[in-house]
Amino acid sequence: MQLRIHRGTREIGGTCVELESSGQRILLDLGLPLNATDLASTPLPDVDGLAEGKPSLLAIVLSHGHRDHWGLVPKVSRQIPVVMGKATESIMRAAADFVPDAIALNAAQYLEHGKRIQLGPFAILPHLVDHSGFDAYAVEVEANGKRLFYSGDLRAHGRKGKLFEALVNTPPRNVDTMLMEGSSLGRLADDQAFLTEQALEERFIDRFRSTEGMALVACSAQNIDRVVTVYRAAKQAGRTLIVDAYAAEVLKATGHDSIPKPAPGWSNLAVYIPQSQRVQLLKKNIAPLVDSYRGFRLWPEQLAQQASRSVMLFRGWMMRDLDRAKALQGARVFWSQWDGYLGAGGSGEALKADCDSRGIPFETIHTSGHASPGDLKRLASAIVPKRLIPIHTFQRERFPDLFDNVVLVDDGKWINV
Ligand SMILES: [Zn+2]
Ligand SMILES: [Zn+2]
Repeated sequence: MQLRIHRGTREIGGTCVELESSGQRILLDLGLPLNATDLASTPLPDVDGLAEGKPSLLAIVLSHGHRDHWGLVPKVSRQIPVVMGKATESIMRAAADFVPDAIALNAAQYLEHGKRIQLGPFAILPHLVDHSGFDAYAVEVEANGKRLFYSGDLRAHGRKGKLFEALVNTPPRNVDTMLMEGSSLGRLADDQAFLTEQALEERFIDRFRSTEGMALVACSAQNIDRVVTVYRAAKQAGRTLIVDAYAAEVLKATGHDSIPKPAPGWSNLAVYIPQSQRVQLLKKNIAPLVDSYRGFRLWPEQLAQQASRSVMLFRGWMMRDLDRAKALQGARVFWSQWDGYLGAGGSGEALKADCDSRGIPFETIHTSGHASPGDLKRLASAIVPKRLIPIHTFQRERFPDLFDNVVLVDDGKWINV
């Protein structure tokens, strides 16, 4: 078995790994580079048969539903089978009506925790992992007597941290090559830990209690762990979590009973459809889906009155609705995403400026979707791969200091597993 990393040896974003055995190939992930300005002008990696399809290219396996792992899939031949988790498929399908450059895929096969699947010469064993993206997997791939372990994106401090401990306690054995993500290197000191989602929940409760008006939480609706954290905190602070149609559809798509959604039995949850979203739903011909929110709807004229008892899952463009409804009195914005997005050109820059100009207090309450250096060390020393190759990191040169058997490779070069 050979592998080549098309992108990811020196960066986060655009992850794509090609595996070859006996003339057959699969891809692990096909992400959009972080610095891509738009999909149309971003080239596909140099994988034979990707644009037009080719029998030797058996499948694209998506570790999880983050765009830096699937973002280029809309550009490939639809003949190439795509393999992913079932919830990832349904969340991506739900999101496709709401976000640009997305795609509603039909998975050819599903990744399922502990269930081996065979793609030509490749035997793939998925391990469900804790990550900010829902239904995320690390995968073990065996072919020709060689074994590869790809971490995907993972962490130990989220709501599914037990999965990380299970992986460390009963690690895959005899791993020849391990591709391990290193997102946190350079972002967190080696001996420091990230806040847990549980600790974040406590912090949110405290801040919601001391917020006079509406608490506006700017987090991704697809960060299900975080939405659960915010929902639980809202409930404990005596508030109702307001979500839009996009978040409502994503929550429904998780297919998990334990995840809040506008469905019978859930309290402290409401659905508000912002004006521009209402227009979008009509345009996309999916307006009838709001019928399923009956009993959960909140109307514009109720926003001001409910503000002090509400938490809204919020994006910057919703400010206009809240302003029009006079619901911003005493409001506070909580940025619950990576701080890097607040910088120049980032997705949060305009929101921060808008808050500043309106005099709305703005603070960050967030924890990473990625493992701390200490947790990565635990993972690497549990698996003890013959070779450890950094991926999904801006700091690969730190790997040899932290882990054993590190081999640095270059994008685009074939190497033996
Ligand atoms: Zn991810
Ligand atoms: Zn990623």
